[in-house]
Amino acid sequence: TSLRVARALISVSDKTGLIDLGRALVAHGAEILSTGGSAKALRDAGLPVTEVSDHTGFPEILDGRVKTLVPQIHGGILGRRDLPAHVDQMQAHQISPIDLVAVNLYPFEATVASGAGAEDCIENIDIGGPALIRAAAKNHDHVAVLTSPTQYAEIITALEQGGTTLQARRALAGAAYARTSAYDAAISAWFAKERADLLPERLTIAGERAEVLRYGENPHQQAAFYRNSEARPGVATARQVQGKALSYNNLNDTDAAFEAVAEFSEPAVVIVKHANPCGVATASSLSSAWDLALRCDPVSAFGGIVALNQALDEETAEKIASIFTEVIVAPDATVGAMNALARKKNLRLLLTGALPDPSQGGLVVRSLAGGFLAQTRDNGRIGVADLKVVTKKAPTETEMADLLFAFRVAKHVKSNAIVYAKGGATVGVGAGQMSRLDSARIAASKAGDIAKTLGQDAPLTKGSVAASDAFFPFADGLETIVAAGATAVIQPGGSIRDDEVIAAADAAGIAMVFTGMRHFRH
Ligand code: 5GP
Repeated sequence: TSLRVARALISVSDKTGLIDLGRALVAHGAEILSTGGSAKALRDAGLPVTEVSDHTGFPEILDGRVKTLVPQIHGGILGRRDLPAHVDQMQAHQISPIDLVAVNLYPFEATVASGAGAEDCIENIDIGGPALIRAAAKNHDHVAVLTSPTQYAEIITALEQGGTTLQARRALAGAAYARTSAYDAAISAWFAKERADLLPERLTIAGERAEVLRYGENPHQQAAFYRNSEARPGVATARQVQGKALSYNNLNDTDAAFEAVAEFSEPAVVIVKHANPCGVATASSLSSAWDLALRCDPVSAFGGIVALNQALDEETAEKIASIFTEVIVAPDATVGAMNALARKKNLRLLLTGALPDPSQGGLVVRSLAGGFLAQTRDNGRIGVADLKVVTKKAPTETEMADLLFAFRVAKHVKSNAIVYAKGGATVGVGAGQMSRLDSARIAASKAGDIAKTLGQDAPLTKGSVAASDAFFPFADGLETIVAAGATAVIQPGGSIRDDEVIAAADAAGIAMVFTGMRHFRH
């Protein structure tokens, strides 16, 4: 059985085939409602048409941004003819049913393709059109929706035969959502491209060979260090005060350590092994920060790279020199500190003169077979104002400070990263595991081992907080963290199972905050 079309709404940017469609509708006995330009074209062809603004008693306003976004139109499309309540309400509000909607959208894609400017592109984002299309497609039990002139021939035949069939309306509804979804995809792709203004069409990596290194990551690999023009304080421009020549791995790890320590404004120490921090701490002095950073994982700290965010003092220098350290990097060092290190002939001391700015932009590049990847630096930084408490319990002030600290550290730990922290210091770092659960477990079990070695009653993770660089895909990672004794958790959120993870946190009586920002690092 086919449905007659008593009233049709036509609002088309592309006027191809419009008159043929209008003629068929009139021949079928339908009233045509239409928006400004479409109405004019139909009228010029001698067809009877009612302007939407006359039908609704509301003019097209805001340069056409609001033409059909009114209850008389959307009610007329969405009202169910089979529900007495709908029919009554439509009558009460003088809403006449609309049985066919023919809309094609503002030519966003073509506007973008023509090389138009941003303002022009944005003005060509159709709002009312997709709303009409989606409404008509939803109510396809009663309404036929046309989104392209290529569909007119078929519907004209149907009108000649008495109306539209459910089968045809369903097919048109499916095509309609495909169209609005492609339209939104084009808009979102345009925004993504707009955002790519930092990524040039052609990218040349240029640098001067500053040093040929003994070898690369492994002895059978050749390597060199190149310096470019980027003005960023760090290893590339540092002054080496003493020690052996730096190796490829030294340079790489020192860079990671120095970038991490620059995140903090209080005196801070970062100890890095294989590009991952194994101890990070902030304190009222560098010397105490060193003690705390070392405490996190004294075993791994052996042969590590130590970065400091303030001038190295003698007391801290003595302490660092007392264990085997490969490299120390700091903005500066006192004469006393330099003297204290001088007897360790091999130990490399690098002074950079300044700290890099963690919020600075710029590109980072990584090569892959046949090309390279470029992305803007991860200069994202989370503050208290960005956090959303998602549990019944909110973090205490102390927990909050540790959460922010832990999340900042997690940004510099290879994914999957889980960082436990307490009192401004890491007490467990789980890095580079293929499962978040394993990272949570490893950090906790190492903390347990260290507690045993040191004869402590409980691991330092007890009463700590924990940070995760990305969301928990399941509740098990969070449960591991709870079992390790953490009382608050910070993580980006955004998993489809966030609800389960939040429920697990509530069940454990801990606090959890979402950052909305992820810090993958690979
Ligand atoms: P016309 O040429 O008939 O004046 O305008 C037709 C175009 O307007 C169609 O592309 C249709 O999708 C769009 N349109 C219809 N109603 C609205 C509305 O309320 N807001 C916006 N932004 N566009 C609309």
